[in-house]
Amino acid sequence: MSEVSGNDLDRDAGKHAHTVLARVPAVERVLSSADAQALIGEHGRTQVVDAIRAAADALRRELLAGASYDPALRFDAKLIGDAARALDARARPHLRAVFNLTGTVLHTNLGRALLPDEAVRAVIEALTRPMNLEFDLATGSRGDRDDLIDPLICELTGAEAATVVNNNAAAVLLALSALASKKEVIVSRGELVEIGGAFRIPDIMSHAGAKLREVGTTNRTHLNDYDEAINARTALLMKVHCSNYAIEGFTKSVSVDEVAQLAHARGLPMAVDLGSGTLVDLAQFGLPREPTVRESIAAGADLVTFSGDKLLGGPQAGLIVGRAELVRKIRKHPLKRALRVGKLTLAALEPVLRLYRAPELLRDRLTTLRLLTRPATDMHVQALRLQEPMQRALGGAYCVTAEPMSSQIGSGALPVDRLPGYGLVVRNAAGKRGGRALMKLEAALRALPRPVIGRIADDALHLDLRCLEAADEAAFAAQCAELRL
Ligand SMILES: *Cc1c(COP(=O)(O)O)cnc(C)c1O
Repeated sequence: MSEVSGNDLDRDAGKHAHTVLARVPAVERVLSSADAQALIGEHGRTQVVDAIRAAADALRRELLAGASYDPALRFDAKLIGDAARALDARARPHLRAVFNLTGTVLHTNLGRALLPDEAVRAVIEALTRPMNLEFDLATGSRGDRDDLIDPLICELTGAEAATVVNNNAAAVLLALSALASKKEVIVSRGELVEIGGAFRIPDIMSHAGAKLREVGTTNRTHLNDYDEAINARTALLMKVHCSNYAIEGFTKSVSVDEVAQLAHARGLPMAVDLGSGTLVDLAQFGLPREPTVRESIAAGADLVTFSGDKLLGGPQAGLIVGRAELVRKIRKHPLKRALRVGKLTLAALEPVLRLYRAPELLRDRLTTLRLLTRPATDMHVQALRLQEPMQRALGGAYCVTAEPMSSQIGSGALPVDRLPGYGLVVRNAAGKRGGRALMKLEAALRALPRPVIGRIADDALHLDLRCLEAADEAAFAAQCAELRL
């Protein structure tokens, strides 16, 4: 090939590119259409101009790369369509509602407790109206946000005083900072827990400036282990609830009342990090027993910390209850200001706590408890109802069955106990093993408008129905039809 003919070819190609690119309309012209004006009404001019420009650039690149389009296609309509899709995708929130079919009711990664209607209404009110957050309505002078719900917390726990912070990790950090900075805190080696998300008792202890004094062994700690460790630098004896694990076999731990008695005999306070901390005996609802906050206070604990969004069923918060003098010190500590809760948390927490005044009605009203106590027969019927639509959506490559399943409470509460329930199990048809097909299905469920989060185990995808309440079932079933596999 001679140089001359090569140049001719280049020239032809250049001419061709020029003609196809000429079909791409100017951004200004696209913007003048009624459709573009509608987009501007929704997203504002700046974003629409950028989106149409980006769509036009992409189209030019495609055409130069040799893409061919139907000559009848109107490029201005295509650009608006592309821009509208891009703008919608950008406008979609990153924090979104999902279906929690994991079988874990208080799932930390899925936002833990779901709040009852009373709390939702209170949050909306707090979001849209001025509130007496730090304003004393009786005197017209400045108030303290702690005073709004502390009396209610005391009523429900038997404690003298209370305060609320951002979460239980903050509660422990603050309590240790206020009461044990530059001093020693005695904890059993069997209770040096790590809670998911990098909360480790020893780390919190060092960040609070306290020195951890470990006593006993992993499986056995005796009262005299605590006793022998007490010295002039001791600030606190502490017990930590073994939230997410259980030690079985040859074990010995010392009860709250024994540790509290020892602490008091030596003139020291005793604290309990209760973790989940329930306010009522769950055994009355047929659930496994978990120590209540009131019991810990009655057993002599001077301070108890627990989460708002675990078994309590409220918003993310850390509650600190105990002796008035200790709580006063904690409230006055500078970290309290940094860890305090906002009005939305207080608005949500108060109505949840109020529900506990009527324990007989709690099972219906408190969402967390309602989910935890859902009858297995209820879920069985639901599984049979959903089996057919699910099978239809998945087609012949998969086989859907309704099977018993056991859910867990989650968030470290009662890690060993399982709650009997029902769900859908999806396997590859024809008994094939097929990790890849199941992973593809799991990903497709996650890609739905309201993502469905299940669990893969034993060559099957498990969709536990415990957290799919009646109000959501129709939406779930309808969405199945949108699955793209
Ligand atoms: C869950 C838990 C925490 C942390 O509580 P958050 O509210 O998640 O900060 C601390 N201690 C124990 C024993 C827990 O179970």
